[in-house]
Amino acid sequence: MLQHSYLFRHNRRKFLKDLSLAFGATTLGMPLVSLASCQSSGSETQQEQQTNQASGNSKKLGIALVGLGSYATNQLAPALQETEKCYLAGIVTGTPSKAEEWKRKYNIPDKNVYNYETYDQIADNPDIDIIYIVLPNGMHAEYTIRGARAKKHIICEKPMATTVADCKHMIEACNQNNVKLSIGYRLHFEPHNLRVMELGQQQVYGAVQQIEAADSFVFSGSSDKWRLDKELAGGGPLMDLGIYCVQGAIYTMGETPTAVTAKFGEVTRPEYFDDVEQSISWQMEFPNGAVANCRTSYNKNEGLLYGKAENGWWRLEPAYSYSGIKGKTNEGLMNLPQVNQQARQMDDFARCVLEGDETKVPGEMGLRDVRILEAIYEAARTGESVAIQT
Ligand code: NDP
Repeated sequence: MLQHSYLFRHNRRKFLKDLSLAFGATTLGMPLVSLASCQSSGSETQQEQQTNQASGNSKKLGIALVGLGSYATNQLAPALQETEKCYLAGIVTGTPSKAEEWKRKYNIPDKNVYNYETYDQIADNPDIDIIYIVLPNGMHAEYTIRGARAKKHIICEKPMATTVADCKHMIEACNQNNVKLSIGYRLHFEPHNLRVMELGQQQVYGAVQQIEAADSFVFSGSSDKWRLDKELAGGGPLMDLGIYCVQGAIYTMGETPTAVTAKFGEVTRPEYFDDVEQSISWQMEFPNGAVANCRTSYNKNEGLLYGKAENGWWRLEPAYSYSGIKGKTNEGLMNLPQVNQQARQMDDFARCVLEGDETKVPGEMGLRDVRILEAIYEAARTGESVAIQT
């Protein structure tokens, strides 16, 4: 991993310098994206039209995973064995031994295997339609932008990037290159979380008054030490896990909060948490007066999404896991199926590419959330209530 970190710092400095020259001081003037109508990057591209015409929409799209860490290995690659509209066509890795293992395991030809230096050559590979960025957060912007310039559609993991400015550059690059951009928000494809969206947004039990959201795990200090490095992670558990609480509160309400107050928690393991926070709690206010009390930590295990409305309540616990999500309401158990969230998410994006449709989890949603994460950090640093710009 030492080699990875060195490469990251060196490349990121150079990439960001080139990027600021390319984009200058442009801003996007991004409209607020509502949950009901999240738009992606414009109309059907020439590339999509060709794909559709040539295939009659029957082609399985090729996905290349970039960064073969825990999530790519244990969730995405297995999910790609279940997908119907896309398949694992290629890999991008900085670790040669992983390349060998994946080639054997998933029958990936040499011509579809890249490293971070040869990555841009993916532009010449017709087997790859979609690039899925599963790198440390601080690398998402660079690899999304390079992927867009290679004219590939992009799925980027959450958080979309570590700054609002990077998110804007990513959206701009995808728009300029006529490719679609989606964020790995898998819970928008999960039945219990979808039910919460319905209960809250359609006011099934009346107007929502209160939300409680918590997502935490005990950081064990294992292989993914980049999570403790502010430059690579953007922050601590808020960036990694708290983003699910922000998402949960917003998709319960169907609107964006207007202001936030926040407080960093105590650091009880300073050997780990000298660069990023160990825990943080925050309160978001919504236009109708509802409040969401949220917390996230790298020092305990919990996953909760609770909502209370005028005439009822609901509770998901665990709320954000890959499987085993459980839900109940004041009327009883939700009794909904467990699904492969990642397979559904990737198939839906492939469908959007094939049919020229808009993804419901676009870059604009990722940008919105990173803007809120920045506001939460500012509120914790200053002790003030921070207005959320939309
Ligand atoms: P890992 O640390 O397990 O994997 C990251 C991989 O990135 C590494 O294995 C390595 O792959 C590559 N890499 C390249 N440069 C570096 C570097 N400088 N330092 C460390 N790794 C580097 O992380 P995760 O798989 O857990 O997370 C990756 C991304 O996925 C994150 O953005 C995270 O937020 C997101 N994620 C999303 C989840 C979800 O539920 N949607 C769940 C878990 C993670 P290689 O050796 O192939 O180069």
